[in-house]
Amino acid sequence: MSLDLENLRAPKPTERPDLWPWSAKFADGELTLGGLPVTKLVGQYGSPVYVLDEPDLVGRATVWATVMAEEFWDGYGMGGGSAYYAAKAMMSARVIELVTAAGMGVDTASLGELTTALNAGADPNMIGLHGNNKSDEELRLAISAGERGIARIVIDSADEVARVAAIAEELGRKARAMIRVTTGVHAGGHEFIATAHEDQKFGLSLATGAAKRVALDIQNYESLEFVGVHSHIGSQIRDLDAFSESAGRLLGLVKDLQDEGVACNELDLGGGYAITYTGKDPEPTSPKDIARALASAVRNKCEELGLKVPHVSIEPGRSTVGPTTVTLYRVGTVKEVPLEDGKSRLYVSVDGGMSDNIRPALYEADYTALLANREASSALVLARIVGKHCESGDIVVHDVALPADVKRGDILAVPATGAYGHAMSSNYNMLTRPGTLGVGTGDPHWIIYPEKLSDLLDRDAYLASKN
Ligand SMILES: *Cc1c(COP(=O)(O)O)cnc(C)c1O
Repeated sequence: MSLDLENLRAPKPTERPDLWPWSAKFADGELTLGGLPVTKLVGQYGSPVYVLDEPDLVGRATVWATVMAEEFWDGYGMGGGSAYYAAKAMMSARVIELVTAAGMGVDTASLGELTTALNAGADPNMIGLHGNNKSDEELRLAISAGERGIARIVIDSADEVARVAAIAEELGRKARAMIRVTTGVHAGGHEFIATAHEDQKFGLSLATGAAKRVALDIQNYESLEFVGVHSHIGSQIRDLDAFSESAGRLLGLVKDLQDEGVACNELDLGGGYAITYTGKDPEPTSPKDIARALASAVRNKCEELGLKVPHVSIEPGRSTVGPTTVTLYRVGTVKEVPLEDGKSRLYVSVDGGMSDNIRPALYEADYTALLANREASSALVLARIVGKHCESGDIVVHDVALPADVKRGDILAVPATGAYGHAMSSNYNMLTRPGTLGVGTGDPHWIIYPEKLSDLLDRDAYLASKN
């Protein structure tokens, strides 16, 4: 039991730097983020709160942009490389400002994401638009942005070609189009599967020839410029062979198209690179090693097929922003619950839950939690961190070892919540969504304001009509 408990303990920043933002330290008996003790952060800004380490974000974005540019540098006979931040992981103007200044492009998938990216000052030539059901309004904004529209609209179905072409024509522009290809490769965690079957809402099948037909159809329109092919094979992927397999299949299509006289200048391999969520996770492969592996897979396949190496891009969302952020919660009720085997589990309730992090309930995602406001003195016990929602699946951390004396008022830090935390938050039970606080660049500042109860009450049309 004690060995198990040791495995379930949250490692401190010095033990597992890959789990925490760069500025995280456990100093003078408590966790500090951006040099500020968590007691001070929670005291001043309240809880729950997402704390985002801005220099860490800049560092990660710089690394992604740099390794892609270096490993695919055209001096090696390659076609250049770039990295687009998948903004759905965490969308805010400040995040866009930081990642684009660091050299990344931005991937968007809705009117709100595209508008935020443009208003934050992202260069339209480095913006993409995804989506299996884009609205006319979204397409119009994408095509009319900047001097020649955004860099790529990723076409997801056969009927979208004529729609995009018509809107571009109406606007007197040439829209730059990629196609989203389902290659049959799916991955996540440690393994990947590669089939010829596709049963999902995204993309155009390689196996049935749909992808090729749509790429050829694009050539029929004056108002469209065919940029290249795209695939996204999953998330939290550790096995780089999955990307190589998918890239190889995409290049087969590129060759096929070339034989038909259609040039394909860009290959996008999507996102999905794994990060560390708990002390049990292996260390993730570095961006440098990932880019190098992708470059060698692409180069070899191009050589085999006699193709010129296209420009290669990727779209890391989670691995850009995930590790930059820590959620701080205040502990409320602590309850010991007997288990069937005679042991017991400590249920530790915090002041947020599935409304600020839905991933454990949605995907059984694993997280860990560290007692952050003081040095642990008592023995470790098996605990579960739960939220305050009316749902027994409202779990923040399924299994974690915490000091037995964890008590009301303590602060728990849950690392690696930067991706799909705020982005997927809700108002379930009429809870206000926490704000995101930027630290590490000058004084702490709100990146996203915390919601006020009045924000929620104002949306209630009946209440509003009574005022
Ligand atoms: C979600 C998504 C990404 C980002 O995935 P991560 O796992 O956050 O890296 C990239 N591209 C597309 C098309 C996506 O849908």
